[in-house]
Amino acid sequence: MKKAILLFAFMLSLSVFAQAEQDFSNVEIKTQAVAGSVYMLEGSGGNIGVSVGEDGILIIDDQFAPLADKIHAALKDLSKGDLKFILNTHWHGDHTGGNEEFGREGVIIAHENVRKRLSSHQEVKLFNMVSEPQPEGALPVITFDDDLSIHFNGEEIKMIHLPSGHTDGDSIIYFTKSNVVHMGDHLFNGFYPFIDLDSGGSVQGVIKNLEKVLSMVPDDAKVIPGHGPVGTVDDIRASHDMIKKCAVLMQQAIDEGKSLEQIKKEGLPEDITEKWGKGFLTTDQWIEILYNSYTK
Ligand SMILES: [Zn+2]
Repeated sequence: MKKAILLFAFMLSLSVFAQAEQDFSNVEIKTQAVAGSVYMLEGSGGNIGVSVGEDGILIIDDQFAPLADKIHAALKDLSKGDLKFILNTHWHGDHTGGNEEFGREGVIIAHENVRKRLSSHQEVKLFNMVSEPQPEGALPVITFDDDLSIHFNGEEIKMIHLPSGHTDGDSIIYFTKSNVVHMGDHLFNGFYPFIDLDSGGSVQGVIKNLEKVLSMVPDDAKVIPGHGPVGTVDDIRASHDMIKKCAVLMQQAIDEGKSLEQIKKEGLPEDITEKWGKGFLTTDQWIEILYNSYTK
């Protein structure tokens, strides 16, 4: 049983990036109404946010290229309107793999570091993942540094950059009237977050950014996480509290002069591993991210 769970976790961790080796033929796109004019599509990779209305369709992230036809079909079921905008929460391939395909129809918008990273060679050491420069058609056409608003389908849609968090180019997207926030990978709902130190991310930044989001977003907002089920502001708070608790423990261990191996051996308190350790990262991988973030 334990072996099966470990294997599952390992395969899940591979599936985030390894598009080439993955078979998408059995992936189904599931559509869920979130609130107001906002929907969520779930398939493989990062959750897709969708706004539909009289102005057409706007999507947030686009998973993997081989899923583009199925995503198209799911969008068509929601609206006969045209796809106008594609927002990228960050550069990772499980969120931008469909860019070239969808960029033929709509305008891709992202933080300037998303364009920089998509147009250059990238390495994510934790997963032995390499990403080569993307073709021009897959790159964001409009980039921004701090924030940007799109007035679409009867509401202001705010795209806000969060510095050195999950990567150095993440944005969250807040739908001001529908009262929905798409967190990108600043929220893995219910499990340890992957924080990409090789792409300019940091645990310290994620903690700070989540505090900013919590001070900004109304308590009754609906939350689309980068990965995991639709949630509430309490889910953002719970993730923040867990990360902060782990960070404090890590800082203590480092101050006591413990090595990464020693810290891994001691592990994390059971209430944390039981609740958060059943998803995408193993506790050892999460400890390694924490350690590297607080020593480098
Ligand atoms: Zn990511």
